[in-house]
Amino acid sequence: MADQFDVVVIGSGPAGYVAAIKAAQLGMKTACVEKWKDDAGKQRLGGTCLNVGCIPSKALLESSEKYAEAHHSFKDHGISASDVKIDVSAMMARKDKIVDNLTSGITGLFKGNGVTSYFGKGRISGTNKVEAVAEDGSVTELEAKHIIIATGSVPIEIPPTPLHEDIIVDSSGALAFDSVPGRVGVIGAGVIGLELGSVWARLGSEVVVLEAQDKFLASADQRLAKEAQKTFTKQGLDIRLGARVTGSDIKGKQVDVHFEEGGEKKTETFDKLIVAVGRRPFTQDLFAKDVGIEMDERGFIFVDDQCRTTVPNIWAVGDVVRGPMLAHKGSEEGIMVAELIAGKKAQMNYDTVPNVIYTHPELAWVGKTEEELKAEGAKYKVGQFPFAAVGRAMAANDTTGLVKIIADEETDRILGMHVFGLHASEMVAQGVIAMEFGSTAEDLALTCFAHPTLSEAVHEAALAVENHAIHIVNRKKK
Ligand code: FAD
Ligand code: NAD
Repeated sequence: MADQFDVVVIGSGPAGYVAAIKAAQLGMKTACVEKWKDDAGKQRLGGTCLNVGCIPSKALLESSEKYAEAHHSFKDHGISASDVKIDVSAMMARKDKIVDNLTSGITGLFKGNGVTSYFGKGRISGTNKVEAVAEDGSVTELEAKHIIIATGSVPIEIPPTPLHEDIIVDSSGALAFDSVPGRVGVIGAGVIGLELGSVWARLGSEVVVLEAQDKFLASADQRLAKEAQKTFTKQGLDIRLGARVTGSDIKGKQVDVHFEEGGEKKTETFDKLIVAVGRRPFTQDLFAKDVGIEMDERGFIFVDDQCRTTVPNIWAVGDVVRGPMLAHKGSEEGIMVAELIAGKKAQMNYDTVPNVIYTHPELAWVGKTEEELKAEGAKYKVGQFPFAAVGRAMAANDTTGLVKIIADEETDRILGMHVFGLHASEMVAQGVIAMEFGSTAEDLALTCFAHPTLSEAVHEAALAVENHAIHIVNRKKK
């Protein structure tokens, strides 16, 4: 007889494991099926995010930033550090240890919360049936009142640059180089390209980023994107916009990449090439056609605003459904679905999902960009404040960037907050909370911020919406 559950989750990434824990916490008998294994063949929970995504990339970003600081900015503080070296294997071992700690932490959380874990490929064989297929082909049948699909996404590959050993790699390969390459090519100036390109550039690689679009970070507010492009270029990233990759040839331990830029045919030779052109939803072998789960034209599982698929009692969350491919978006969806299954009222707010690019400095935003509002014909006002005028940023020797707040012209409601600067990932949470509470720019302007903090730039930007910023000369006095 099949093992019986209230909820079976397929996939244990940040969408799936959070959904499973929440469902169990709400008193439902819950199982999670996960196929990911480590090099020793042992099951690994945590999905892309914990194993080859958010966490390992941030571990390497932190290590490489310390190295870059020792090289470039210690001297400004009067600190001399000679013979600073990077031990790549020690850096990788630290990263792997963090991944191990976190993934085994999920195993512990499953045990502690009473989630039953199955190791194998999950396959939906009927509207309330899941098969967990182990590697040896043995099948465990599960029956569930509700099924939550959380099978995530995988990197997109492009025909001109098929992956090749450790020379042409995707993001996972780029998190595991065993030494600092001389020349690194990156295809795609998106989030992964900029973050992983930064890691290797900081450690001394010459990095060339080939981006097909003419605009840099087209989905970010362009005032900040321009500032970011200038900054990253100064840091050594050679960003080529409007570059269309047409082919590649492996030459021994290197790769020749052919591309067109500004109407000219060009070739660059790299020791490593990182392909970072986006990710696609992963649903391979997940269900038989007759189950009735529909997909959209881009291969995402079709869901409504509350993550219901086209089959009653089958839900889908995270990267496998529409919306930004972000860990925190998937986790919030997981919680929402578990609550809905438990009969509670729940709705996640898709308008306040923050975006962060963990470069140095970081670029983070929530809500609308000025370009989006212009395109909508919305009436808005803008307040900006540069970190160059913030004492704490000067103390930190890091005055690049600004905070930009956009508010509705009539109601003063905050429509977007954009931060390019040190610890922008932390600061943007203030905008998220403000927007979640429906606050106005004036509400933020009337709030007392600790001094000296980087967040004072948020306060000043809110004041600047009505030209009331203090630590800058207002051109237009009111
Ligand atoms: P995933 O994390 O992809 O998990 C899906 C899981 O389902 C996997 O474990 C997979 O093995 C399993 N699975 C698939 N099919 C089956 C099946 N049939 N049976 C059993 N198991 C199955 N996002 C951020 O928010 N912040 C970041 O800083 C960030 N950094 C990133 C850095 C990199 C290099 C990458 C690649 C991604 C990064 N992301 C980041 C994106 C983030 O990793 C994803 O948005 C997130 O992991 C999606 O979560 P998920 O649970 O939907 O899917
Ligand atoms: P992305 O969509 O952010 O960027 C891909 C870039 O590649 C785009 O700029 C696109 O124009 C470009 N591109 C596409 N095809 C190309 C081609 N043939 N030649 C040259 N350029 C091409 O995708 P990504 O960086 O691969 O990241 C994948 C997903 O992972 C993203 O959706 C992101 O949300 C998520 N992620 C998030 C974080 C974070 O939150 N900090 C970090 C890493 C990844």
